[in-house]
Amino acid sequence: MLLEKSSWPTVETYFAKCDLVVLGFGSTENHGRHNPLGTDWMAPTRILELVDERRPEILVGPTLHLGSADHFADYPGTLSLGDRLLYEVVRRITGQLYHYGARHFVLVNGHGGNTRAIQDVGYELNDIGCQVALLNWWKLAGELNSEWGGGHGGAQETSADLWIDPDSVDLDALGPQDLVDDGGRAIGTVGFDQVSFEGATPMLLRRARRYATNGWIGPDDPADASSEWGEKMLTATADWTCDFIDAFEKSPLPKPIDRVWPLRQ
Ligand SMILES: [Zn+2]
Repeated sequence: MLLEKSSWPTVETYFAKCDLVVLGFGSTENHGRHNPLGTDWMAPTRILELVDERRPEILVGPTLHLGSADHFADYPGTLSLGDRLLYEVVRRITGQLYHYGARHFVLVNGHGGNTRAIQDVGYELNDIGCQVALLNWWKLAGELNSEWGGGHGGAQETSADLWIDPDSVDLDALGPQDLVDDGGRAIGTVGFDQVSFEGATPMLLRRARRYATNGWIGPDDPADASSEWGEKMLTATADWTCDFIDAFEKSPLPKPIDRVWPLRQ
């Protein structure tokens, strides 16, 4: 049952019987020269649609199209709320659903940069007696099948886009990731925020456009992407999510914790 296509009495009736809600969290940001900026909300949206098809009795809320992606500032089109504003937005959305009766929250996330803000809200909801599950779909997919794992805008996400909306991927724009060793040759760039030095990979903090020339960051080369990969991966992730929901909705609600002072206001 999609919240946006339901009337308020339908939602009121739902929460009188059930306290579980599924929400999606995405981002609008660089995903390499070949992928659409909406990659990170397209996948959660599709997973939520598949969950709705399989469990029409469950309330499925909207997917937030904007997230926290300040590290991708400077790639034109990236629109980031930043961490603090995202925290406020997630807190308001889940707080209103709490007011209507939600206590079990399933949060399907499509972007790594969102996790800190979502976690902060999740801990607060748990403090007041809720159960909150954060499902980072790209990680789950890689755990369900190690061949489905991936980085940022690589084969994993490009495959998801190719299945969801093939016209949104510009296959002619595919190219190497061309990472720049902007910290000098002795500490070469090897991945997301990471450089390599004497066998370890510390973080060098700077906006990604300083070192990720194309915008996708591996290890999975988007040239290996396919629509079939995307379909199998997202349907398997949605099937897993439905099984998880069946177990999670029975999980006991925690006793609220009355804190002397809030950790965060
Ligand atoms: Zn992404």
